[in-house]
Amino acid sequence: MNSRRDFLQKVSLGLGVTALSSLPATANTIPEPFVRPEKQLRVALMGLGGYAGIVAEAMQNCKMATLVGLVSGTPSKIDTWKQKYNIPEKNTYNYENVGDIKNNPDIDMVYITTPNSLHHKHVLQVAAAGKHVLCEKPVADNARQTREMIAACEKAGVKFYIGYRMHFEPHTRELIRMREAGELGKIMHVNNYMGFKSGDPNQWRLKKALAGGGAMMDVGVYALNGARYATGEEPIWVTAQESKTDPVKFKEVDETITFQLGFPSGVIANCGTTYAFNNCERLYVIGDKGFVELSPAFGYGPIKGRTHLGPMNQPVVKHQTLQMDGIADIILNNKPDPNVTGQEGLKDMIVVDAVYESIRKGGQKIFINKA
Ligand code: NDP
Repeated sequence: MNSRRDFLQKVSLGLGVTALSSLPATANTIPEPFVRPEKQLRVALMGLGGYAGIVAEAMQNCKMATLVGLVSGTPSKIDTWKQKYNIPEKNTYNYENVGDIKNNPDIDMVYITTPNSLHHKHVLQVAAAGKHVLCEKPVADNARQTREMIAACEKAGVKFYIGYRMHFEPHTRELIRMREAGELGKIMHVNNYMGFKSGDPNQWRLKKALAGGGAMMDVGVYALNGARYATGEEPIWVTAQESKTDPVKFKEVDETITFQLGFPSGVIANCGTTYAFNNCERLYVIGDKGFVELSPAFGYGPIKGRTHLGPMNQPVVKHQTLQMDGIADIILNNKPDPNVTGQEGLKDMIVVDAVYESIRKGGQKIFINKA
């Protein structure tokens, strides 16, 4: 790497200032002032909780996406966030008046970061207001809701994307590139895990009415989505098993689930998710010519990986910065949709439904019906 400018030319558009700012300044490298291009995707965040805070901070380093609006049920948060991020009062809303956002020409997209079971209602509200929607994972409680959300966005003529940030992450991009280029050969097996030890017993994630489900909904979707991008195929059957070590804490939602996905080529992905223990984060795809192992694979990183060729050395970046710039680039420049559309969310929710159905039926094999 010769200079900051060389580096800029090599990395993709969204790499952001976070990565750049970690580069050492040397005598012959003159840092260039960062100037935001005029064309910006103007984003309002809906639900100012933990993840919205991470997104808001990451967006400070975006080149093409700007935080311009807030939707919150907590007036004191609006006051704090307004000051912190220099948001005008006219761009702030609550859950009751969020429909008025349709009269606001200064907001292009609403990013929904509310609890899972509210996504359906909130996506319908934002679509009805005629704004593009970015919705956090899991997209909804089930496939039926997801279909309604897709239909509402289509009817309103707005984009509908899911916050599948791994699709913008460089190690993950490289895995997909290698698989598509045939460098792994014929994919033979996938082994993915994503889980963690859940803390606070009173959090909404353990309440079915707000979370929709447990570990499977929250982080099992990473293992599942990862199996789809590791194979490039869609599962045709599912089997699943549930285990519970703390039936009091996990009275309403699933604690640990293992699930198997059968793909048309004959490949089986063996996956797991949990709220019961840590050190559970890996994507392992094995082909007849090579392999990729990412571990950690799905969290905020740094993502680390190795392949049959040796350690991976993709840049370490803030996923949310890349995601927001990536989505802004697609919308503002009319680029083809990435693999983070509502339809991709639907493909995952169809499988999640099948996982729960298999568990209800004692581990029975459930064939996927895409209709
Ligand atoms: P938090 O509980 O931290 O924040 C959720 C926010 O939603 C609240 O602060 C509140 O904001 C708003 N809200 C509206 N109605 C309710 C309600 N009835 N109960 C609780 N909160 C409510 O959750 P997270 O930020 O951790 O998660 C939010 C979403 O983001 C989830 O869908 C989750 O799966 C997803 N997520 C995604 C991650 C990723 O890496 N892609 C990582 C973490 C979470 P307000 O007071 O402003 O109304």
